[in-house]
Order: sequence, then C-alpha cells, then structure tokens
Amino acid sequence: MLNFEKGFTLDLDLKTGLSKKVDTKKRYLSDLRGMFADDAALEAMIKENDDVIYEYHTLPVPEHEGDLAFGSSIVYPGNVAGEYFMTKGHFHTILGTAEVYYCMNGQGVMLCESPEGDVKAFELSPGTVVYVPKRYAHRSINTGNTPLHTFYVYRADAGHDYGTIEEKGFRKLYVEKDGTPTLVENPKWAE
Ligand code: ZN
Repeated sequence: MLNFEKGFTLDLDLKTGLSKKVDTKKRYLSDLRGMFADDAALEAMIKENDDVIYEYHTLPVPEHEGDLAFGSSIVYPGNVAGEYFMTKGHFHTILGTAEVYYCMNGQGVMLCESPEGDVKAFELSPGTVVYVPKRYAHRSINTGNTPLHTFYVYRADAGHDYGTIEEKGFRKLYVEKDGTPTLVENPKWAE
C-alpha cells in the first residue's frame, strides 16, 4: 500500500486512516522535564497526572535524499505556569533542509530559531501553511484552547537533532500574559 517507488494515496487522517502502518509516538509531561522555565510547576503537574502533551504520527518512509517524509502531529492545549504546551523542537541533522507545516485545526505558533540566534514566530491557524526555512530549529506551540493539529513534510533523510535543544533550549518562550500569547526571553537559555 505504501509504495514509495510507485506512489500511493492515503487518508490524510493518519490517526485513524492507517493505524497499522503509522507509528504513533506520545510525549508526556515527564518527557519534557527541563524544557519549561518553571521546573517545580511541571513536577507538581506530573505528580498529579502525567498527561500527554503531544503526539505525532509518522510513516515508514525510507530515509533517501530524494524521498519526502510526512506525518501529522497534535499538540494538546494547556500550560506550565503560563508557558504554553509545546513540542520539544529540533534542528534537522542535515541543517540545510527545510520543512512545511500545514495547520488543520487549532491555534498556535511555529517558533523558529537559527544557530546564530535569529528568531521567527509564525502563526498557525486552520488553513495556514508555514514554511520553516532551512537551518532553523522549530517547535510547535499550542496557544489556543483546542488541539493543534498539523501536517508536515520534509526531506526524508533530513534527520532530527533533539539534543541541541534539550541542552540549550530556545532563546525565547511563549507565555500567556493578560490572556495574550507573548514572546519573552528564556531565563534558562544557555549560550
Ligand atoms: Zn523538522
């Protein structure tokens, strides 16, 4: 069915359309320890209930230079001491590879950051396409009250570098201030 040499069609609803072929990964609050500014607030939430923050659904695309990998992700609504739920975020191992995100549902921001410190924040709302430029780390942030559901596609051999973000974080954070999503400096960001 998923013939990457001959092509195929599939139901865009990866969550239910291809359950046997799709690899679903869930990330819980405890998987994001250290990534939110307020560690104590996160620990208190984990103790109460270690909820799913986000999940993503990927296909077994061969990691060839000429193929395209794609899937969908859902970031659930919520916050840790005012900092919105988000994905871990990553650079691509092949830094010079871009990515496209199409927002199907929800409200949020695609936060992007280059190694040199240039920060871009692109709004995500239903029907919006975000082109994440090559060389930029990227993270989906749910600033709304409903699940943020996106479809993404990138060069299949791009690879994921999560370690750099796990160690250093992003330079900026999205927090709720007087009901408005606001970009602020990350107090924990390490040079
Ligand atoms: Zn990516």
